[in-house]
Amino acid sequence: MQPPDTVRTVAELRARVAAWRAAGERIALVPTMGALHEGHLALVRAGRERAERAVVSIFVNPKQFAPTEDFDAYPRVAEKDRAALAGLADLVFAPGVNDMYPPGFATEVTVAGPSGGFEGAARPGHFAGVATVVAKLLIQCAPDCAMFGEKDWQQLQVVTRMARDLDLPVEIVPHPTVRDEAGLALSSRNAYLSPEQLAIARKLNVVLSRVAGELRVRPVAEVLAEGRAELERLGFGPIDYLAVAEPESLTPLDVLAPGRPARLLAAARLGPVRLLDNMAV
Ligand code: AMP
Repeated sequence: MQPPDTVRTVAELRARVAAWRAAGERIALVPTMGALHEGHLALVRAGRERAERAVVSIFVNPKQFAPTEDFDAYPRVAEKDRAALAGLADLVFAPGVNDMYPPGFATEVTVAGPSGGFEGAARPGHFAGVATVVAKLLIQCAPDCAMFGEKDWQQLQVVTRMARDLDLPVEIVPHPTVRDEAGLALSSRNAYLSPEQLAIARKLNVVLSRVAGELRVRPVAEVLAEGRAELERLGFGPIDYLAVAEPESLTPLDVLAPGRPARLLAAARLGPVRLLDNMAV
């Protein structure tokens, strides 16, 4: 099967989308930074279930990386990504940094509320970078729906809030986290882990499942402290957070009301990687 065409400019993207619209077809957008794995591909498949056409954007967004982070080293494997999308996506949109942010670019989208804690606290400016690029991609492509992974739970809430607040005419569709056979959430950055670190990383979801199971039967602070100690014992560290929050606003919860939804969220460093995971409580 042929890989999908790649376009690099907004004008080409809009021309392709306009032709599909004229034929009465719906469009799903899957925003990514490339280095595609099964998690991304699951989003594309889910997009194709909702729309006749799937567009995958591949853009390593400098605005969501801090100067100390891995922007330059982030894996860029364009040809491999295109091959992985053969028969799945209809178009790849891969703009250059100068197309997205030409000289003089001066606009930033900031979302208060769900951006505040957790990743927002650990990575100042990160969610403004995410919201800015996602707002641009949604306006550039004007899809019927856009697919986002629950793997990045807080990002999903930030994008959902932004689309609602700005009346963007798009449905933000969440997709469950795709995991490997040991339950580790797939991530492009897992490629940085040594075999020994990978074995430890695969225990994160096991600890989280146990913590999630105990949170409704024992005091929250006690269960979280034990979970944190266990992660440290396994070799994770530092642990940026292991916390429970209201799922949409991301307000931290220290008591769980019966029947009220809650989300367990964790970020822990392991060697060169900061692992993120989350699950329903
Ligand atoms: P990224 O390329 O890391 O920016 O991710 C692009 C999209 O894929 C985001 O919506 C992520 O949440 C989603 N994603 C990444 N990894 C996974 C996964 N393991 N399961 C589900 N969605 C994922």
